[in-house]
Amino acid sequence: MDRKRIALVAHDSMKGDIIEWALYNKGTLTKHDLYSTGTTGFLLERELGVPVFKFKSGPLGGDQQLGARIADGLIDILIFFWDPLNVQPHDPDVRALLRISVVYNIPTACDRSTADYLISSPLLKETYKPIRKFSPEEYQQSRNLKFLEQIKSYEDKEEQV
Ligand code: PGA
Repeated sequence: MDRKRIALVAHDSMKGDIIEWALYNKGTLTKHDLYSTGTTGFLLERELGVPVFKFKSGPLGGDQQLGARIADGLIDILIFFWDPLNVQPHDPDVRALLRISVVYNIPTACDRSTADYLISSPLLKETYKPIRKFSPEEYQQSRNLKFLEQIKSYEDKEEQV
């Protein structure tokens, strides 16, 4: 049984949904390490009776902290019940979190149906390495070289003047 690092986040109008979903799937969820934004984490910890690692509350930067963890390769799965009907004060952070989860190709569920499919996947019990189209090191190196060449061409032009 492979222990996964599962992040759970829910906007205010979706908190009831995530608690209900998590309680239904308590047996499976509690076999893994759980991470969450502040308030969602507080509620989940209380309801599930297991420790949840809590980042800051979403509007105070929790989504960004979670995104940074994903970029560091420290989160395996994201369950994110975002609110499709209301504007959030931290909308740019929400979009950034969703973007980074796709960049790193981590399984992400934004609704209960997808979360049901994800939690019941046989892959949950296996070691699973998401395929990435890039290695962060190679990506960085190719950008460094690209800009080095660009700067060199500026320098060459200056020399000609
Ligand atoms: P919260 O943050 O769990 O602290 O409410 C969630 C969010 O709004 O992104």
